[in-house]
Amino acid sequence: MINTDRLVRTFLELVRIDSPSGYEAEIGRHLEARLQRLGLATESDAVGNLVGRTTDGRGPWLLLSAHMDTVGSDRGIRPVIRDGVIASDGTTILGADDKSGVAAILEVLTVLQEQSLPHPPLEVVITVGEERGLYGARQMDLRRLRARHGIVLDAGGPIGHLVVSAPSQDSLRFVVHGVSAHAGAEPEKGINAIRVAAEAIVAMPMGRVDAETTCNIGIIEGGTARNVVPDRVTVIGEARSRDNAKLDALTASIVAAFQAAADRHAARLEAQVERTYHAYRLGEDEPIVQAVAAAARRLGHEVRLRASGGGTDANVFTAGGIPCVVISTGMAEVHTPNERIAVADLTASAELLLTAVTALAERGE
Ligand SMILES: [Zn+2]
Repeated sequence: MINTDRLVRTFLELVRIDSPSGYEAEIGRHLEARLQRLGLATESDAVGNLVGRTTDGRGPWLLLSAHMDTVGSDRGIRPVIRDGVIASDGTTILGADDKSGVAAILEVLTVLQEQSLPHPPLEVVITVGEERGLYGARQMDLRRLRARHGIVLDAGGPIGHLVVSAPSQDSLRFVVHGVSAHAGAEPEKGINAIRVAAEAIVAMPMGRVDAETTCNIGIIEGGTARNVVPDRVTVIGEARSRDNAKLDALTASIVAAFQAAADRHAARLEAQVERTYHAYRLGEDEPIVQAVAAAARRLGHEVRLRASGGGTDANVFTAGGIPCVVISTGMAEVHTPNERIAVADLTASAELLLTAVTALAERGE
């Protein structure tokens, strides 16, 4: 029922439109026009999130969502199809994350219309800035959404693997203020901010803490010259866990490590901690989980309910009262020049979405 040629054409067209996070205006206009041509009523908000609603359908509203922005080396993408696999020419990412999700949604809307298939009223949400800590979704006024539950297309892996759990994330930013001094003439007058940061980083946990908890220091910046005791270092990192109590404890221990190091050297510490997004875990009996799992089984996929190590817009929607399952489009090695997607997987993900959507209409859920 899915038209693979048309789906691939749509996907290729989308990846050729540059859309780094923060520069989504052109793709936003393109998608708005496409949704309107499919008969959806559209609106966009101040940051550029696009919402389209079907004007027909029965039962409770169903959210279908993907993000329009990309990250990495993501301008001037030239997609290449070889042996049934779509990749970039090797100089950029492909943008299957998440244009494969957007393309699958557009294809499903097209098929529903073309064949007058039953479906629930559909609320299509295509966000901006997902790659910047779910920025777009977090800016949305979720009370304006009508959906009762949803399907987010933004994962890789086998098509039958459904993401039903994801971690919370804390963004961490530390500024260590030391005292500068001439490194040769009077180093004893200085407080070396790099030394303070280094001691803190060595003392804190790093990498995988346990099966559902991780942390990382990703950026460190500071110092002005070889012969100056540095008076300022900025350290940027993150911590994640699917267990909020563990995340609270981990973040507290990282802040404590920085504070202890600062205290030891009489340096001053500025610490900023922000809970970027919230963990969730959907039960097997959640209607949207059951519906998507049943559709996947019907199509012959081996179904697995799995946890993800990363957040998606589903974290935001689920926290806002709209439980969302994340399905795979088969995207692989995202954010790298090796990013690719098999045409068969892209088609299978659209088929899964179509089957789930039509089944939900039959069940009246
Ligand atoms: Zn994504």
